[in-house]
Amino acid sequence: MKCYICALEGGESEAVAVCIVCGMGLCMEHAIRKDVDLWEGGYPLPSKRVKAPLPRILCPECYAALYGK
Ligand SMILES: [Zn+2]
Ligand SMILES: [Zn+2]
Repeated sequence: MKCYICALEGGESEAVAVCIVCGMGLCMEHAIRKDVDLWEGGYPLPSKRVKAPLPRILCPECYAALYGK
């Protein structure tokens, strides 16, 4: 898979990750890693809460939509 953003810009980079929201292929430069606490937000089973934050990969567009202003 190629990086979607690089392809849009006319370049070509091998994708190293996939955005978990939109499924876009992303190269190292365009992948945004955001560590999240999986059950944050009142999940009703605290015993199943994971101890470490889980990494997840977002593209810049989804990152801006979710965390940007
Ligand atoms: Zn790229
Ligand atoms: Zn995305």
